[in-house]
Amino acid sequence: QFLKGQFDKMITTFDPNTIQPAALMYHCRQPTIQDRNVSHIFPRHTKSNLPVVARGEGVYLYDQSGKAYFDGSGGAAVSCLGHGDTDVTEAIKTQLDSIAFAHTSFFTSDPAEQLADKLITHAPKGIDRVYLVSGGSEAMEAALKLARQYFVEIDQPQRRHIIARKQSYHGNTLGALATGGNEWRRAPFAPMLVETTHISPCFEYRGKRAEETTLDYGLRIANELETEIQRLGEDSVIAFVAEPVVGATAGAVPAVQGYLKRIREICDQYGVLLILDEVMCGMGRTGTLFASEQDDVVPDIVAIAKGLGAGYQPIGAMLCSAAIYKAIENGSGFFQHGHTYIGHPVASAAALAVLTKLTDGGLVERCAMMGDKLNDALQHAFGQHPNIGDIRGRGLFRALEFVEDRSTKTPFAPDRAVHKSLKKECFEAGLICYPMGGTIDGRSGDHILLAPPFIMEDAHIDEIVSKLQIAINRVL
Ligand code: PLP
Repeated sequence: QFLKGQFDKMITTFDPNTIQPAALMYHCRQPTIQDRNVSHIFPRHTKSNLPVVARGEGVYLYDQSGKAYFDGSGGAAVSCLGHGDTDVTEAIKTQLDSIAFAHTSFFTSDPAEQLADKLITHAPKGIDRVYLVSGGSEAMEAALKLARQYFVEIDQPQRRHIIARKQSYHGNTLGALATGGNEWRRAPFAPMLVETTHISPCFEYRGKRAEETTLDYGLRIANELETEIQRLGEDSVIAFVAEPVVGATAGAVPAVQGYLKRIREICDQYGVLLILDEVMCGMGRTGTLFASEQDDVVPDIVAIAKGLGAGYQPIGAMLCSAAIYKAIENGSGFFQHGHTYIGHPVASAAALAVLTKLTDGGLVERCAMMGDKLNDALQHAFGQHPNIGDIRGRGLFRALEFVEDRSTKTPFAPDRAVHKSLKKECFEAGLICYPMGGTIDGRSGDHILLAPPFIMEDAHIDEIVSKLQIAINRVL
């Protein structure tokens, strides 16, 4: 207690970004998880030795030594409002004081109803119903099951195939994993996964031929869907699944203009449902509330999560068209799905507060504006870097792809694990970014993803760039 008192006095007299408080904290701190030498948490990587997060404020996270980290990726594109937003924490507390939980087979709740209303008000025209779950994988499972059940209800039970894309991620539960195109994630579980076929993603930097226009490239790649539908059998496909802007797997890769419109046409022609996965790119992250607004396409089903709860509560949602809902309503009247925590009142209250800030509070527009500034700064600082082949993305959803040779786009050897080293050096420098390897073919290719909070200020752009600069210089 004495040491803590000393520390508390000292910390107020120093800039938390300087080294002294960190050193003082080291000597004065309370024991941390690492000090125990044993943790009963089952971590993602068993050999990892992570710092313990102590608190968050605005765009920064602080570990127990007092070191500040700029949350440059919002975790994994989650923390769109940053940390410690009192509007959201107050909404959570208020809801906890009235009712924390009531099972949805007995009750609906005000926050869940209001959240659904607000989502539909802002959703693309034609989207009519909301199914509230606890995260992105759950939203995708609900989407896949609803799509299949829809065809059972309208007497087309022969439809059984899902077509998705290579270089995609849709979650880690078995249905979502089967849909994702990421080979190394799928491999150990292959015998447990339903068969899904994968066509090419729309990835201009890697896929466009020199002699093609961007428009022609988009159409050529979209037409792969038609070929695949015909190969599987014209009336045998349930749905085509895609992220409008590919997130972690390829690194903030937007579809080129025209691609999704052609995809929509093909889906309509063959009666195939279009499921868009906006778990990562949705909720304003790309500068519009739904990423697909920028492609002028309305999906039949759309999944959202991460930015919906902004990290304050675990929540996701599957939204569907009136036509799909009507088929269930006029058919069995029962969506054969459900989890204990669907429509959770506290999670809904948090999401309602988040969504209100995004829409009524102008944060989506702010994301678009700051995204342009971030892009300009990245292009200015790294646009000519010999080892950076592409800087891409939309809104505050940006990625840098690293290459051995910029002119030939040759990737680094996979065993150099450039993305991992970049993550480590960024973290050292006090910047959190989200790295991924296997950008190109599941093995080679390195990128880092940036998805900072929408509340960031101009000065934070300089901070991102200068910390990236330090990390890149160290690694390359
Ligand atoms: N879909 C996409 C596009 C994602 O990026 C993710 C998570 O990263 C998921 C689905 C799965 O979401 P969750 O991790 O919340 O289950």
